[in-house]
Amino acid sequence: MLNPAPRGRFAPSPTGPLHFGSLVAAVGSYLDARARGGEWLVRIEDVDTPRVVPGAADDILRTLEACGMAWDGSVVHQSTRGDAYHAALQELRRQAMLYPCACSRREIADSAVAGIEGYVYPGTCRSGLAHSREARAWRVRTEGAVIAFDDAIQGRVEHDLEKDVGDFVLYRADAVYTYQLAVVVDDAEQGITHVTRGSDLLDSTPRQIHLQNLLGVRTPVYAHLPVAVNAQGQKLSKQTLAKPVYREHIVSSLMLALRFLGQQPPGELEGEGVDAIWEWATQNWRLDRVPRVRAQVFVPAGTEGRK
Ligand code: GLU
Repeated sequence: MLNPAPRGRFAPSPTGPLHFGSLVAAVGSYLDARARGGEWLVRIEDVDTPRVVPGAADDILRTLEACGMAWDGSVVHQSTRGDAYHAALQELRRQAMLYPCACSRREIADSAVAGIEGYVYPGTCRSGLAHSREARAWRVRTEGAVIAFDDAIQGRVEHDLEKDVGDFVLYRADAVYTYQLAVVVDDAEQGITHVTRGSDLLDSTPRQIHLQNLLGVRTPVYAHLPVAVNAQGQKLSKQTLAKPVYREHIVSSLMLALRFLGQQPPGELEGEGVDAIWEWATQNWRLDRVPRVRAQVFVPAGTEGRK
């Protein structure tokens, strides 16, 4: 089979404006795709409606434009993709890999051990709901799913899903399709060949590969970039009060993002503007220079040494 044309994507959740941490993921995915001569898509991950901040998606897109990052095709919003997610659930159900679960968070917390991300679901509802219990969420089975992959930056990752995560939720009690399901369905349907994103999602990847295997779709090449953390080791996010990328500081933000990713842009580029930065960065992008760490401290300019 012919290899498909390279295609990357940036998939922000619209929970706030673009900040340095998400800019790094945007820049890394953009350059990785463009340096391969590939397309780069933008997808708004607004599937988790309770977390969506009105206006944030537009704000992110305007900032990407101001950064000179032009995407291919039209922007897909996950909130419009319910039918596709539903169809994927039907397929898993047909394979008897999906089952309803009646457990509350509390019940799970009382009977489960901690895994790589929260509690490992102990499989209570796997062989059917106890009499008079009502389905709250839908889970996918993970027995025997030992999933390994080679990340282009972080190296080999292997999870025994049943032990490390447990059967995980694809459709929540509050009628929301989960990120793990939506991202797999969308990456497959959009023909994404290269997923370059923050390493906070490294531990989600084996779950996504498990779903790809079940749904019979291709597994993309994964590259997980270091995430930016503050001096306390917290990921930059709205919760840690990361500052937005201000449109009047685009050039310096792009230069900082390139350096954060281990690239070595010459200082003169700063005076030459956005187009010159992209021209240099696309021609000189080196994935092997990206630091092979999960997290890196980012100290915003002007705050070094401040107490
Ligand atoms: N929407 C996720 C986020 O903003 C990224 C998902 C992905 O790149 O797979 O953290």
